[in-house]
Amino acid sequence: MIRPPSPEHRRSVTILGVTGSIGRSTVAVLRTRPELYRIEAVTAWSSVAALAEVARLLGARLAVIGREDLLSELRTRLEGSGIEAAAGDAALVEAAERPADWVMAAIVGAAGLRPTLAAVRRGAMVALANKECLVCAGALMLAEAARSGARLLPVDSEHNAIFQALGAAPLESIARLTLTASGGPFRDASIETMEAAGVEEALAHPNWSMGAKISIDSATMMNKGLELIEACHLFAIDERHVDILVHPQSIVHSLLTFRDGSTLAQLSPPDMRVPIAHALGWPGRLDLGGADTAPATLDLAALGALSFQAPDAARFPALGLARAALRAGGTAPILLNAANEVAVEAFLAGRIGFRDIVRIVAAVVEEAEHGPVTEYEDIRAYDARARSVAVRVTERTGAGRVFSSRPGGRTDCAPGASEAKVVSSKGSAWT
Ligand code: NDP
Ligand code: MG
Repeated sequence: MIRPPSPEHRRSVTILGVTGSIGRSTVAVLRTRPELYRIEAVTAWSSVAALAEVARLLGARLAVIGREDLLSELRTRLEGSGIEAAAGDAALVEAAERPADWVMAAIVGAAGLRPTLAAVRRGAMVALANKECLVCAGALMLAEAARSGARLLPVDSEHNAIFQALGAAPLESIARLTLTASGGPFRDASIETMEAAGVEEALAHPNWSMGAKISIDSATMMNKGLELIEACHLFAIDERHVDILVHPQSIVHSLLTFRDGSTLAQLSPPDMRVPIAHALGWPGRLDLGGADTAPATLDLAALGALSFQAPDAARFPALGLARAALRAGGTAPILLNAANEVAVEAFLAGRIGFRDIVRIVAAVVEEAEHGPVTEYEDIRAYDARARSVAVRVTERTGAGRVFSSRPGGRTDCAPGASEAKVVSSKGSAWT
């Protein structure tokens, strides 16, 4: 039986992608209740200074950097700490295989699939932020979890909201799911405005501060498309029973309608520490009250009103593409995801325009080879092939045109206006 963490039974924790937006918010929550947790392993891709710093701060046993050329620097930075250092893809998988009770899967993109699958295969409690894992390998992940006894705890705020609303009720009691969406920075923008949008405008999310990839996904609304696929896997529901609803305030994080006619929602400020705290405390509830670093309390009187509107399929074609990929099944979601990752990276680097992202995804799903998928190796092969088609389509799309790229780096977001945004921003100190 899984019990909530307590000082007598501290929960051991591994954080994959600790230097990212979700990784940092996870550290912030862990540090409000240090007596309940012990840190096994932490990982990053190239942020070696930040990785060493957080490994020391948390007293982790193992720190893994993805890039092998950074191993000696990691070792130097960890000298005298007693923390083990390792590097490379195999070491990322080994970090996930270490016997931690709870694993935060917060690597961005399909790169997170192998380590996340390793945690699932050994039967861990896997707090799943990395939605691309389920998009590419939903059936495999769920089959492996059923075999190993792993628990998938949804951290994506919409899916966490549904998980909370569901409670102990069986999946068969669900009639409909309604995933809410902020609408992103271009919620009310014209197609012409979006066509001309630069990187800074696309990254400027109104409510959330997140890594660059998911920020761009929110601007195209591909994020909601990926989340639709994620929801269908997590809650064993057909896409015809899942609605998307634009909710600009990002307070209602999704709704669950039961077959008996009741609809339940989960509400909280737009702060990822809330779903992370839920997953860290599950099956109990963490007491974060009073901590300086606790999320703000919801103040509905100050908000005054909550509003909702239907999404505009014409301005946000990513929604239809994702739905079609889910319906087609097989390799289609793998191709959709791989093409999107390539196109988002090209947009961030200034090689294509904003609306080209979804055009490229549509072209790759059309052009790339489809086929049967059952094993991890099949997924990897189709992902790799789709990426090479996407690179070709991207070169064709961007050829001879000039775009502005993002100054000063890869993943930091513009600092946000709200407190929640600043606290969870990647550039902030470990709090
Ligand atoms: P970030 O880009 O902020 O962080 C990504 C993390 O993964 C970093 O630690 C990064 O290391 C590491 N990483 C990047 N590439 C690789 C790789 N190839 N191999 C191993 N590690 C890698 O992303 P977010 O925290 O925003 O998002 C993480 C996941 O959570 C995504 O799947 C996203 O969709 C999902 N999510 C995020 C939300 C948010 O609020 N941010 C909300 C809901 C879901 P380094 O720093 O060294 O590059
Ligand atoms: Mg989400």
